[in-house]
Amino acid sequence: MATPETQPASAADLLDENGQVAPPPTPEVLEAENAPTAEPAEPKNPPTVDKEFSELIAKSTELRAGVAPIYGIWRSGALDNEQIISATKSWRERFGMDETRLAETLKYFELIEQSFSENYPPEQKVETICALAEIAAEGHFDGETLHALAFRIIRRETGGSMNRVADYSRELPLAGTYDELWQPIDGHRQNIQHILKHEVAHGTDRYLEIGSDSEIKDHLGKMVADADNLRRRESWRSQNAIDQYLATPDEKKEQMAQWLSDELLAEKIAIYLESGGEFSGFIAALEKIMPPENLRAIEAGDDAAKKQFEDENRFFFDKIQTLMADKAAVKEKIIANTASGREKLAEFSANKFDSDGYFDGGYFEPAQPAAQKSNDANGGEGLWSLVTGLGDVIKEAGKEVEQAVPVSEIAKRAA
Ligand SMILES: [Zn+2]
Repeated sequence: MATPETQPASAADLLDENGQVAPPPTPEVLEAENAPTAEPAEPKNPPTVDKEFSELIAKSTELRAGVAPIYGIWRSGALDNEQIISATKSWRERFGMDETRLAETLKYFELIEQSFSENYPPEQKVETICALAEIAAEGHFDGETLHALAFRIIRRETGGSMNRVADYSRELPLAGTYDELWQPIDGHRQNIQHILKHEVAHGTDRYLEIGSDSEIKDHLGKMVADADNLRRRESWRSQNAIDQYLATPDEKKEQMAQWLSDELLAEKIAIYLESGGEFSGFIAALEKIMPPENLRAIEAGDDAAKKQFEDENRFFFDKIQTLMADKAAVKEKIIANTASGREKLAEFSANKFDSDGYFDGGYFEPAQPAAQKSNDANGGEGLWSLVTGLGDVIKEAGKEVEQAVPVSEIAKRAA
């Protein structure tokens, strides 16, 4: 198995030894993103998408890398929201992040603080906040809508395992995480960002009623029927779900088929939430969470196999993009559909919701290795190669944020 890539900036780095949020050392945080990238001298498959694609990926990575430092600045209270918005202007303009998107991200920081159970460890809280805030930073949901989808987030104290590191309630906009989510795999962090987004994706599916679209249902039905082959062109999470389905005795297969459909769809939604909203970004996000052998199999496959992979993912991308296009309607629906659940959760007791079966029959995720394609020395460079010099782009961005927002100065003042 390939070695997982060095993890992106850890939001836990923002905590000091007392578990308090400290303003971040921006360049260092961003430096952590600068993992060595295995670039083949001559790509076997020249990228089908050009410079524009590479730039898109770099921008999306840069945007996400900026969330943790901005959270640190916001949390330190050294700058108010307007000052943060204005100080990051040139940095935001690099990827077309307008004032509203940042304002909604900052609003989400405020709202999500109220989501956590009291037993949630501070360093895990920061990780969770930053992972989910990326969804608002990418502009998929505003702060209030995103908050409604995971209205409460609790640290679950029993029942966790490496096969169950996080879950989403079967009837409430309620997510749970276990300490196992923070346990490394082969010495590397898990893909915490993706696992958490996948939980929010279950909520998006349920409360936006994405899975009730008839074309999506048909499509998922065909994929489940082709589960044997499907497992070789999907992500870690989906492959794991497919394997569980394939191992199910025949008499229970029908019941499991719905569960598998839900998992496959949640994974596609999570990938969409991890993209900047473009198809190339969607494919790039998928590649990052695919087992390298699956990527290699698709690369080595014939044109028909490549076309199937592309068509299948384009179908989900187009569908999800269409269903999420009208932001006002999306918000209205999610707010309305989560209303009673949020009301129930407002009377919040972590113990109650942990122990009263709200997670029974819900969704749960196994541990997943960090995104690893770019560190896979045996290849696995993907269908479309990643840009060379990605690290430099991020370092540059770090400098720019540092110039716009003198983080080191803030740190000194806050100390
Ligand atoms: Zn799931």
